[in-house]
Amino acid sequence: RRYRKTIIAGNWKMNMTPSQAKALIEELKPLVSKVKWCEMVLCVPYVDIPTAVKAAKGSKIAIGAENMHFEPKGAYTGEVSADMLKECGVKYVIIGHSERRQYFAETDETVNKKVKVALENGFRPIVCVGESLDEREQDIWSEIVRKQVKCAMQGVSVDDVKKVVIAYEPIWAIGTGKTATADQANEVCGAIRDCLRELYGARAARAITIQYGGSMNAKNAAELLSKPDVDGGLIGGASLKPNDFFAIIEAAN
Ligand code: PEP
Repeated sequence: RRYRKTIIAGNWKMNMTPSQAKALIEELKPLVSKVKWCEMVLCVPYVDIPTAVKAAKGSKIAIGAENMHFEPKGAYTGEVSADMLKECGVKYVIIGHSERRQYFAETDETVNKKVKVALENGFRPIVCVGESLDEREQDIWSEIVRKQVKCAMQGVSVDDVKKVVIAYEPIWAIGTGKTATADQANEVCGAIRDCLRELYGARAARAITIQYGGSMNAKNAAELLSKPDVDGGLIGGASLKPNDFFAIIEAAN
């Protein structure tokens, strides 16, 4: 793990108003003031971003967006561009979360466009991949995840790929309370690293942070994060409570 940074990122999804965001970050800030062993990110709803950036100022918490459009501007009602996020102080952006693939018609192609735009704009994209329950039961997770990674990285250079974070999130484990076992998580994160090695070589592959996500919590985090290919977590539900989120951060130490 000395080749790459552990990153613990929260994904608030459609939760928290700006005032709630401010209160949560103010509670979290003193807890994380001595953290040196990992990077910490909170990906928050668009309207919370200015408040969250202001509240997190002077702390080690970086703020991310949960999505972004790939076009620079124009007639895309309801969408938000990279420029807008950049001016607000965003550092990370989640791309291709399974909820966006499922409910908002994100495809491997739109994910790839967004990854490239994120990198062009200096963001670190957190690219989500993962198989469904059906695909897990058919034992085709490896093909599915490899295809998602390959498509997402199409046209991304070896220099840029080191800024990418991959989040392995088995769809059957998101918001369900069902976690992948630590060995399952490590197996898939390892397969993702193999795929990155084929695409970019060993040096780049070992520098890329690969997170696990899916019902990670204060209880199961230490075991998941102890695995050699699991370099962090993307955390939904447990990132909404400062003490739970901090417990996961501590488990990364
Ligand atoms: C997520 O949405 O990225 C996630 C992992 O959610 P949860 O932790 O709630 O399963």
